[in-house]
Amino acid sequence: MIIVHTGDGKGKTTAAIGLAVRAFGSGLKVLILQFIKGGQTYGELDALKLLPIEIRQCGRGFTSSGNFDEHKAAAAETLKVAREEILSGAWDMIILDEINYAVKFALITEAEMLDLLKICPPELHLVLTGRNATPELIDAADLVTEMTLVKHPFQRGVKAQRGIEF
Ligand code: ATP
Ligand code: MG
Repeated sequence: MIIVHTGDGKGKTTAAIGLAVRAFGSGLKVLILQFIKGGQTYGELDALKLLPIEIRQCGRGFTSSGNFDEHKAAAAETLKVAREEILSGAWDMIILDEINYAVKFALITEAEMLDLLKICPPELHLVLTGRNATPELIDAADLVTEMTLVKHPFQRGVKAQRGIEF
């Protein structure tokens, strides 16, 4: 299955982590690779340490001072790791968190992302998250969910909250 979580509403990454927990509970081996994110603390990182679900932050963070070239190099490295892990046969599910952002911000090309789908063995579930999934990705996927923004506390100035956002 090629699974995509996109849209402007909250819940894309947390739904992917929910899927990872379900898959693990069903005996699948799960790897989560996070494009973009890096260096920050997230509750899920500590929680997943308790389970044999591997999660690797490969990016340079949303807010770090890193310049574009640094972000681009990190994304290229994450893409390389993604390719290797997809072909490794070691996993039943690989989650590529925020890969859509990496494409949107031109850290990787859309063709490079779509190439991951092409090399994906049929028995491997690939989950791709992030706003602005491209029409080509949506077309190529088996299961696409769009989170719709109805209301978010950010709109009335509430900052990110521990346990809800991180
Ligand atoms: P989550 O990680 O909570 O599942 P997400 O993956 O759907 O959220 P992203 O687009 O990756 O959301 O955004 C990352 C952060 O921005 C999250 O902490 C999330 O709470 C916050 N966020 C998501 N949607 C909105 C929104 N519509 N307005 C403001 N902040 C948002
Ligand atoms: Mg997310």
